[in-house]
Amino acid sequence: MTVSTPAQLDPVLPGSPQPGSPADAVERPAGPSLSPSRAADFKTCPLLFRFRTIDRLPERTTPDQVRGTLVHAVLEHLFDLPAAERTPAAAAALVAPEWARLVEQEPALGALFAEIPPAELAGDGATEQPALDGMPDDEGARLAAFLTGAGALLDGYFAVEDPRRLEPAEREALVSTLVDDALLIRGYIDRLDVSPAGDLRVVDYKTGGAPREAFEGRALFQLKFYALVLWRTRGVVPKVLRLLYLKDAEVCDYSPDAEELERFERTLLALSEAIERAKRDRDFRPKPSRLCDWCSHQAFCPEFGGTIPPYPEPSQEESEAPIDGTAPAGADPLG
Ligand code: SF4
Repeated sequence: MTVSTPAQLDPVLPGSPQPGSPADAVERPAGPSLSPSRAADFKTCPLLFRFRTIDRLPERTTPDQVRGTLVHAVLEHLFDLPAAERTPAAAAALVAPEWARLVEQEPALGALFAEIPPAELAGDGATEQPALDGMPDDEGARLAAFLTGAGALLDGYFAVEDPRRLEPAEREALVSTLVDDALLIRGYIDRLDVSPAGDLRVVDYKTGGAPREAFEGRALFQLKFYALVLWRTRGVVPKVLRLLYLKDAEVCDYSPDAEELERFERTLLALSEAIERAKRDRDFRPKPSRLCDWCSHQAFCPEFGGTIPPYPEPSQEESEAPIDGTAPAGADPLG
């Protein structure tokens, strides 16, 4: 993996609209399915996978996580504007309306501000902000701090990329494919750029406040997952898998090859078999690592003195529901 720091990125990569994601999204068959997040969960810790996808235990929502969802939404819609208008000011102007839209969709997000101090809502190094007009002082200051934190991430974005020079082919695109005629793999790609020569670049925005070294392996796993789907659906190995770390204003590029993706495909099949075996045996072992610091379920984890709850008996409806955890990017606390 190569790391680029703040300077502008590589030359213009104008996108050419593709036939669209429907070609990359297949119907869900009866067999197993996996998203990058859930596959990475099992790889990280089988017990974490169980808590999230089988027990479906609630998880705390952190300001970092919600801010990530907000910034992903802003960056997605920034590209709705004509290229010349995609300025830092235009992005900043999208923050409040996108936040209002998210709260309308999910009113519980408003409760995020109930007890968390403004400095924490704004992210590292931020100071308390003045209240917003028309809101109680306390609530307005918390919201202002939160939106300021989102603005800092957008500053990081503009430090590494000029959206006026890009025309993404797809944004927040759901892609999926069947592996080995049995395993459905699918996930949302933040952005896909396609060069006039047909080269693909997969771009993933990373907005979390956690040290990225702890999550880089997981992020790369996610990108290889997308690369495999694109290779299988379009017959092209993506030329670049790109992580944009907005907090650090850094870029990490990785170039996969077909041989590596074939190996990765076998890894996913083995992972799926291991998951099916664990489900059959109801045996999901804890696997402690530094990612435990970000796990919401320590209270139920034997590694932290907790007791695992009884294995849930699924209703017919639940047993037929997908458990691959496919969700738009930015919403996963583990990245
Ligand atoms: S605390 Fe660590 S070992 Fe326990 S379930 Fe969470 S990730 Fe796994």
